[in-house]
Amino acid sequence: MAVVFNSALIKSQPTVTTFFTSALAQGKLAHAYLFVGGNVEDKWLAARQIALYLNCTDDKRETLGSCGIREIANETRCQSCRWILEGKHPQAWFELKDPDATTIKIPVERARQISAELAKTSHYNRVIIVEDASQEIFHRPAANALLKTIEEPRGVLFFAFFARSVDQVLTTVVSRCQVVPFKQDGQALVGPIALAVQGSTDTLPRLLKDHQELIPIVQSMKNRKFFDWSKARSGKQRRLPHEMHSQGPSEKAFAVSEALEFGKVIVGLIGDEHDSDAVIDGAVLTELEIIGTRAVLEPKISGYLSNLENLADEAKMQLRGYVTKKAAIDSFLIEWVNLRSRTIA
Ligand SMILES: [Zn+2]
Repeated sequence: MAVVFNSALIKSQPTVTTFFTSALAQGKLAHAYLFVGGNVEDKWLAARQIALYLNCTDDKRETLGSCGIREIANETRCQSCRWILEGKHPQAWFELKDPDATTIKIPVERARQISAELAKTSHYNRVIIVEDASQEIFHRPAANALLKTIEEPRGVLFFAFFARSVDQVLTTVVSRCQVVPFKQDGQALVGPIALAVQGSTDTLPRLLKDHQELIPIVQSMKNRKFFDWSKARSGKQRRLPHEMHSQGPSEKAFAVSEALEFGKVIVGLIGDEHDSDAVIDGAVLTELEIIGTRAVLEPKISGYLSNLENLADEAKMQLRGYVTKKAAIDSFLIEWVNLRSRTIA
């Protein structure tokens, strides 16, 4: 597997770094990503290290990673890496932010300028950062100036839009991006899901060796209708002919009713004095067990699971808070169904 990120970033953002390394290795990098979550520093590091990888001319790039992430004397690095590290590569690195921190919105003129630059052909792989893509800052006129470039890119373009959450961003931007959730600082990924998302292809029982308490939960969930979708995806269950079409409104409604049915099971398990975190983890692990840990190496699946894991984290927090169990679980499962149909329908 290619080396794209340095070890510090792999440690603090295991899911994100695995996701992009895998996408790059398979040549499946998309043009535009929305980096959500609170850790802005890691977002900059990730974007910069991707830019380094995409443009490094050092001959050891494939085996050791770009010379920009290696601990070597700066003057021995290639020109592209040096320029990107200084944030001033004229053709590969574009930052779209308020230039003097005096105005609130991103100037439309600056967006147009970048767009014009990107319309030229270049032998560099260009990375464009929008540091604050919330709609107050990255407002409609500025977004419009860039959107055409995303739709009809010339050469390799990598847009990284940063935002706290998806709902702060114009839908016209969100709809053109793949969403990549970043972990908060200090919120380390632990446990079997993390191992799997990091690309471990161990079987679930081996991943669970320190979490034996989850095995009976997974066993009890596996045969629920809610997971028919996952079985169909993994080829473990043949889809019925009438289900072969993609998710239409009626199939979606059916999925929601299955989700609510499954919600009762989860509420029951928590009522039976299971720890609510364990039950939520158990549900996510059941999905993983059915889809298969090997599938995690596919960027689509690892992206899907990391999004699912974020939903699960949110549900756990709500379950510890004042929200009723049923409300928290129903909203978790409905979000989950939506995520399924959005990502890998
Ligand atoms: Zn280099």
